[in-house]
Amino acid sequence: MRPNRWGLFDGAKIARALPKTARVDPREFARREVERGAHILALGRGNTVLMTLRGESKSIGWTDKTAIEEAFGIRYDAAEGTSFSSADERSGERYELIYLGREEGLGSRSYFALDLARHELLSSPKSGFGEIRSFLKSRDDLLGSEEGASVSRAGYALALRNWGKGIRFCPSCGSATRSTQIGTRKECTDCGKKQYPRLDPVAICLVVSQDGSHALLGSPRYASGRMLTCLAGFIEQCETIEEAVVREIEEESGVQVDQVQLLGSQPWPLGRSGACELMIGCVARAKSNPETRDLIVDQEELNSASWVPKEVVAQKLAKSKARRRKSGKPGELETWIVPPYAIAHHLIDHWINGDNEDVSRLSKVVARSEASRL
Ligand SMILES: [Zn+2]
Repeated sequence: MRPNRWGLFDGAKIARALPKTARVDPREFARREVERGAHILALGRGNTVLMTLRGESKSIGWTDKTAIEEAFGIRYDAAEGTSFSSADERSGERYELIYLGREEGLGSRSYFALDLARHELLSSPKSGFGEIRSFLKSRDDLLGSEEGASVSRAGYALALRNWGKGIRFCPSCGSATRSTQIGTRKECTDCGKKQYPRLDPVAICLVVSQDGSHALLGSPRYASGRMLTCLAGFIEQCETIEEAVVREIEEESGVQVDQVQLLGSQPWPLGRSGACELMIGCVARAKSNPETRDLIVDQEELNSASWVPKEVVAQKLAKSKARRRKSGKPGELETWIVPPYAIAHHLIDHWINGDNEDVSRLSKVVARSEASRL
């Protein structure tokens, strides 16, 4: 059986569509929702969000209008509806709200993000903002939890804000754009062309050797040289997911694969390009075994790549899980498997601990094709 969770940032538990009344009069809708206690998350620079302390541990700092006003010395502009403004009217600084969705269920409240990236308090180390990636690394109990859903909403908030910031000018005519639908769309102020939130699809694949005994794992340039993960790459225009896997694996490692199977997907709002990515998790069979062909590693993408025996992968995975339970750190020279916030972890875990119908199906196909050659 396949797992139904493939990493963090799914399951945000919100109804995202802006209600029809809000499309007609977004300012009135925002005003009503903010005044009746909407959940608001303040966003800082880069991928930082406001954090709160609950006992010893940090959590995502969802709060409301009044608490935001007190903490940051700004005030909600009820006349305008979709922004806060500096209490010092001479500064003229405005902070935009972005609509994320509504809680599920009756009497539900709305969720908004508030872009405070330009707020002066952010320069202070005591501002309370924290990098969301560091938060994920410090917690292994988020997947499937209520707090995991809170992290997913925070990721969505960052993705929407970062997309909006990156599209200040119209790609068609170069005029300035403006936010519409409470920050969820952009529109050109001159030609009227609409812009929708961007999502970049990435294929990520666990490659198993032809005989099923090894996995091809790499250490990407953007991460520590000791973290082992699956190979991945952006899907090109007019390319299927399966074609992208075949191309990327050969480009990055020189290994040819076929029989690509899609297993699951994971949103990833902390993409390297600053965009929100959709990681599409696959498993594929190599056309070769470790001893039959040398790897040709793409040094621009990877620190290294190697075939790792299945029993070694299983040991590393078990060791990583045990260590995380004790909040320990790996030894200085030790390599480790990517943590469970990422889909690659689950692709590897599925190969080692799943019932492997996906991988065994690959074996059956190989066996059939070999039999047909005899
Ligand atoms: Zn335009």
